Formats: sequence, C-alpha cells, structure tokens
Amino acid sequence: MLKGKTALVTGSTSGIGLGIAKALARQGANIVLNGFGDAEGPRAQVEALGVKTAYHGADMSKPAEIEAMMAYAAQQFGRVDILVNNAGIQHTAPIEEFPVERWDAIIAINLSSAFHATRLALPAMKAANWGRIINVASVHGLVASVNKSAYVAAKHGIVGLTKVTALENATTGVTCNAICPGWVLTPLVQKQVDDRAATLKISNDEAKRQLLGEKEPSMQFTTPEELGELAAFFCSPAANNVRGVAWNMDGGWAAQ
Ligand code: NAD
Repeated sequence: MLKGKTALVTGSTSGIGLGIAKALARQGANIVLNGFGDAEGPRAQVEALGVKTAYHGADMSKPAEIEAMMAYAAQQFGRVDILVNNAGIQHTAPIEEFPVERWDAIIAINLSSAFHATRLALPAMKAANWGRIINVASVHGLVASVNKSAYVAAKHGIVGLTKVTALENATTGVTCNAICPGWVLTPLVQKQVDDRAATLKISNDEAKRQLLGEKEPSMQFTTPEELGELAAFFCSPAANNVRGVAWNMDGGWAAQ
C-alpha cells in the first residue's frame, strides 16, 4: 500500500514510535527514524521488514535540528510523504512545584516540534498533492489528570494543531489526524509504574493494576502494534476523507 513512499517518525527508537515505524514499513514505506539512544537495533528491526531506513538524531526541542532532519530526509529519499509527530516526554508534579525547565521542555518536544516538522513537511506534500500527517497526542489531549499540567497542555495543543492542519489542507490530498492512546506500557509509562511501586511499596504488577484501574475500564494496556495499525489506516486510501480527528485508543478512558 505504501511502497515508494517515505515516512519520517519522530521518537522512533523506542515504544510507540517504533511500533508505528514498523507498521508503516510492513505496508512498504521507507522509514526515517529519529530519537535518542541506540538507533542501530531499531533500524535493523525495521529493515528486516524489507524497506530502506535512514536515521537522524535531531533533538526535537531544537528547531534548527528539526530543520536539519527534514532536509536530510528529503536528501535521502526525495520527499517525506508521511510525517508522524510522536516524540514526547513526561514529568509529573503539582503546578506550584512543576520545574519551569521541565514545562519548557515538554511544550517544546511534545507540541512545538510538531509545528516545526509540519511547516517544513507541508510544501513537498502539497506539491505532490498527497501527504499524511499523524500526530501522536494522548487521551490527555481530550481529558486531564492531576500533576500533568505541561503534558495535558501540550497534548490539548497538538489536538488543536491537528485540526488547523487538517482544515488548511482540506481541499488537497494532505490529511492530518491525531492518535490518542490511553496507557501503553513503554519506557515512558514504566517509569510511572516504578515510581508508584516504590512510593507505595507495592509490587510492579500491583502498580500496573492500580494505574489501569484508575483510568482504563478495559484494564488492558494498548500496544504499539495496535497503534501502528491505526496509523497505517490513516495512510490508507479508505482514510482519504478522514480529516482532523482525534481518535482515541484508550480502553474506554475518555468514554467515562
Ligand atoms: P518512549 O519513552 O518509549 O519513546 C519516546 C521516544 O521519543 C524515544 O524514541 C525517545 O528517544 C524520543 N525522544 C524523547 N525526547 C526526544 C527529543 N528531545 N528529541 C528527539 N527524540 C526524543 O515513549 P512512548 O510512550 O513511546 O511515547 C511516544 C509518544 O506517545 C509520546 O508523544 C507520548 O506522549 C505519547 N503517548 C504515550 C502513552 C503511553 O502510555 N506510553 C500514552 C499516550 C500518548
């Protein structure tokens, strides 16, 4: 379905980003990976699916590095057809104790980076009259939780950015949609599980049960593979007229 297309997935050395990169690779798209830590392992996993990869280690909090990454992707594969804005971080604390530099970093990485990558990707997508922009928001783009001021603000912001991007391109072949996961057991959430287990002196399994029990009626984590399939659907011809949606995959979290 996506043979000959190129997908750039930010924050794809781990977790959800890697799951989405692999799902798009299964559809035949070449993949530009980004993110911190080991890149060779994730690249090998994607290449095993029979596509080409490139990697750029841009820090998504730095607009100049995002520009360099977008230029590198175009130089490697000619054009970015699919942009997945996925890189993200978390920090939890009440507002009055929230470290100012953590607020700035979360807004930069979880929100502003998507604006920068989108503005740089759009010209080539519009020239080709085909493009897919997928923003990995969160159920926290739709509802709030305590102690997550920066994250919730950034995720509500990216849902808004998704709608504007969709509207500005509504008469073109470029669509923009958001994915809103509930709990996904990636390193980002494992840290919250570990913190809870340590604070309450409970087992890891009990901390997971509590985490799910508070918010996610299905009592199940969503998987990166399931989120990858949703991203692949947004890239399919059947989704040509799906524009500006924020689609949750959250075990019923936002239905309550
Ligand atoms: P993760 O920690 O497993 O992966 C995050 C990725 O982003 C990694 O590849 C990391 O290297 C990269 N990254 C972090 N800071 C970066 C920076 N400054 N520049 C470039 N790359 C950077 O986390 P995840 O759970 O897979 O999260 C991916 C996205 O999904 C995030 O936007 C997160 O908010 C969102 N999300 C996660 C969950 C969940 O339950 N895990 C739920 C809803 C939304």
